[in-house]
Amino acid sequence: MSKRNFYQFDHDARKDKGPPVPPNDAELALSTIGQHSKRKVAYFYQEEASAFHYGEGHPMKPARLALTHNLVFGYGLHEKMNCFRSRSATDEEIAHYHSSDYIEFLQRVTPDNRHLWSQWMTRFNLGVDDCPIFDGVYDFCLMYAGASLDAARKLSAGTSDIAVNWSGGLHHAKKWEASGFCYVNDIVLSILELLRVHPRIVYVDIDVHHGDGVQEAFYRSNRVMTVSFHRYDGSFFPGTGNIDEKGVGVGKNYAINVPLTESVDDDSYAYIFRNVMNDVMESFRPTAIVLQCGADSLAKDRLGCFNLSIRGHGECVKFMKNFNIPMLVLGGGGYTIRNVARAWTYETSVLVDQVLDNDLPNNAYMSHFGPEYVLHTPIKDVSAENTNPRQKLDYIREKIREYLRGVEHAPSVQMQEIPSGLEKLHENGDWMADKNADMYADFREDIGLFSDTRNEKELNTADDREHYQGEFDQDRDWPDEEDVDVSL
Ligand SMILES: [Zn+2]
Repeated sequence: MSKRNFYQFDHDARKDKGPPVPPNDAELALSTIGQHSKRKVAYFYQEEASAFHYGEGHPMKPARLALTHNLVFGYGLHEKMNCFRSRSATDEEIAHYHSSDYIEFLQRVTPDNRHLWSQWMTRFNLGVDDCPIFDGVYDFCLMYAGASLDAARKLSAGTSDIAVNWSGGLHHAKKWEASGFCYVNDIVLSILELLRVHPRIVYVDIDVHHGDGVQEAFYRSNRVMTVSFHRYDGSFFPGTGNIDEKGVGVGKNYAINVPLTESVDDDSYAYIFRNVMNDVMESFRPTAIVLQCGADSLAKDRLGCFNLSIRGHGECVKFMKNFNIPMLVLGGGGYTIRNVARAWTYETSVLVDQVLDNDLPNNAYMSHFGPEYVLHTPIKDVSAENTNPRQKLDYIREKIREYLRGVEHAPSVQMQEIPSGLEKLHENGDWMADKNADMYADFREDIGLFSDTRNEKELNTADDREHYQGEFDQDRDWPDEEDVDVSL
């Protein structure tokens, strides 16, 4: 196979095939668990994203993406997937969630001029240790967000069953500010994209840190249920994710938190994950899954404190895949980068139903994987004591079941209320008309994101873009195939 074939440009996907029909309840039947059906998997990668550098000593290392990609290709997994070179997101796409002043600042600030902007740096939580201004920071954001949006659109068009972007999953970024190594929240942007065609989306987060940015975005929504499994003790970053955080307004009971403590092992994690996710899927009956696979929940992570093996982490991917509904798979945290690459490679193999040899294939970064040079290297700390006994897990499960009893069974778009505070949008003119004209209305206003500062001009501009046609927005500016660099 020539290199060119690794990264195709999917012209078929550009044709207007109309939105896919969401699966019905029968198709969503939980009896599919355990089946191993072949799914069409799309894989997105942009080589340049791995070359950015947060700064000396910073634990977030985009180079982990190159390690992962080389292992994925070294094992030949690209032959089981449709692989695409993703494009960078546009400013307009980022503005679908983030505030215009924050975006503008990210565009302008550089390591050389940052000293001129100290007040703004504080306002946007930039320049601190966690979120430094490094060379090309905004370009980096556009790359990982573009890949997640491309992946989401592939699912919305129905041309893939599973779409993977290991560079995405930056779950801490807020509408107005950076947080926890995350500047732009590609997950929120992707979910907003999926909401154009999917009535209900479940977001699942297995990063060791709470998925606070995504929870915050959809805290008032009953179309997106966020489920985060993470360490929680009140002080571990970001400090949120208590079991009592469960959503507000129409979104009440649609935010689920599973707070765990250190050294949780494979068996305990699988027990709580399977039980909670079974209950969530049965109650909410989503039509799409967004799975954030933060790998800092692995044992021996530089920042994490869980005790999961690579197989234990991958078990969550396997479990969610078997629900057989469209699934967007994203990366996230992960700071012992050789193990991040191992985990995400293994999880890619799970998605394409390929059993991998434990001996790593020869690849450009082989020296990172010594001295064992194997995929499933023993990383668990056998002396660590699991602080999550079954009794505690059962308490969490029961509490969540209680919340889920308050979830309207498979709520439909039509049943959704317009929350207060949005009347202004209606007064501004065409919002409702545009929404009604759109077969699959985008209910992003339900998440309470719009502020009074959003003026009529911005609103009308956004409205023009929100007519959905096939896989791509009308405003998409796709290059011709000749212009796409496929030489990876
Ligand atoms: Zn994390």
